[in-house]
Amino acid sequence: MRILVIEDEARIQAFVARGLEAEGYTVVAAGDGRRGIDLASGAHWDLVVLDLLLPGLNGLQVLRELHRTKPELPVVILSARSDVQTKLRGFELGATDYLAKPFSLDELLARIRVRLRGAPTFGDEHVLRGGNVVLDVARRQAGVGDRTADLSDREFRLLHHLLVHAGEVVSRERLLSDVWGYDFDPGSNVVEVCVRRLRQKLGPDAAIETVRSAGYRLAAE
Ligand code: CA
Repeated sequence: MRILVIEDEARIQAFVARGLEAEGYTVVAAGDGRRGIDLASGAHWDLVVLDLLLPGLNGLQVLRELHRTKPELPVVILSARSDVQTKLRGFELGATDYLAKPFSLDELLARIRVRLRGAPTFGDEHVLRGGNVVLDVARRQAGVGDRTADLSDREFRLLHHLLVHAGEVVSRERLLSDVWGYDFDPGSNVVEVCVRRLRQKLGPDAAIETVRSAGYRLAAE
């Protein structure tokens, strides 16, 4: 699956690209509207992620052009402009979806999955298990073997995310977006610190693996 990201802000462009690549998509990024249109017309794409406030040609002009030349191509707008008029204009011009910044990477990925193959669903279970880790969602307590620990809000959300995605590698970008609400990389080690605290609380046997330069994985079995 090939996704074209048209976004001028370098840190958001890099963040979105890495998040999508971690999901297995092939990503090419363009930093302005003209370049985006040129790339769009020169190759096959499964979906476009489009910012609106772009230098030169703005996103709505890009959208109009994309819709004229490739009417079947899904376009997800990702924009700081969240007013109803702009959204409606985007949909009138053929946008498939619209996500306001700041956005959650998980939400963007979920919407893209819906467009490309249909979304997975998760039940709201009260106890989640993955490997030797058990999480009591109501009590916000985690256990490994005989050891039980109360979790802080971030630790809980981080572990919950890993358990919901047990067996998968979850990227640092995705955790920053979904647990911390960042739509850019703050360049700090908040994720690493939180994982370290979780491991201290759950003990050395907890099945939270570090996958070098990819992210973290909680064993499914
Ligand atoms: Ca922009």
